[in-house]
Amino acid sequence: MLRSSRIRHSGLTSVVHRHAQASLRRLSSLSSASQTAADSDMRQSPQQPQQQEPEIPILRGVCHNGTPLRMLILGAPGAGKGTQSARIRQSFDITAISSGDVLRRNIAEQTMAGRRAQAAVASGALVSDEIIVELIHAELNNIAGRSWLLDGFPRNIAQAQALDSMLESVGQPLNAVVNLDVPESVILQRIVERYVHVPSGRVYNLSYNPPKVPGVDDITGEPLEHRPDDNPESFKRRLEQYHALTRPLLKYYHATGVLTSFAGPTSDIIFPQFYAYLDQRFE
Ligand code: ADP
Repeated sequence: MLRSSRIRHSGLTSVVHRHAQASLRRLSSLSSASQTAADSDMRQSPQQPQQQEPEIPILRGVCHNGTPLRMLILGAPGAGKGTQSARIRQSFDITAISSGDVLRRNIAEQTMAGRRAQAAVASGALVSDEIIVELIHAELNNIAGRSWLLDGFPRNIAQAQALDSMLESVGQPLNAVVNLDVPESVILQRIVERYVHVPSGRVYNLSYNPPKVPGVDDITGEPLEHRPDDNPESFKRRLEQYHALTRPLLKYYHATGVLTSFAGPTSDIIFPQFYAYLDQRFE
């Protein structure tokens, strides 16, 4: 699938642009429409006034060996998994599945699973492994054969084992696990200022990523919500759970040799590390 995307991250603009150009030259199967756009971009003469930054078509969705990327993003609640995932999708053709978004969608639609999960999500407790494994299994089935990343799942060793056997049964094991290592002192402030557009999962932060119009989603104009579980009590519980149940996954995946950690106090500092990592792995 061809993804046309505008790179907004100014520090990376030139490197992204260079890579995009290189990718475009390598790609033989560009659609004619995007080829035209790419050609006109490359033909730009130096005398032409520098207009608005061009839209850059990017088609990068497989690993070097032709295998789709099957990746997890791990990290404490509020570490910025959703933010990284959104930025990555501006540059790479990866489908992102967030277990929290899947649950919130099911709750909003009052599906059977959503009704069963509702109380646990609101209180910051974990939803039962059975419910979440089934939901994620269905999501992965829908995107079989594509590059994907999972955010928020697995949350404990039992879920990791369930995911492993799900993937092994189709001969498509994980090939990357990325851990976001963010100081906890930074995380609480972020949580208090976080708002979400539930239908899309778009996340805003009042300090560093505010919506254009206060209280509404930039794309749809629909209202933003402060997540019911983004309050100090519920957050404390989620953090404790993370330490008790999810952090042990680092050891689990370290043993399989697919784990990489990126550390930093902000998503802006972590993103270039993440980008460079994917850049090396993608064709
Ligand atoms: P955060 O990463 O900020 O905790 P998420 O959006 O990932 O938020 O999850 C919100 C809530 O959804 C969790 O507190 C939990 O109740 C539920 N949840 C999400 N993923 C899982 C999972 N893999 N297993 C069990 N419960 C989950």
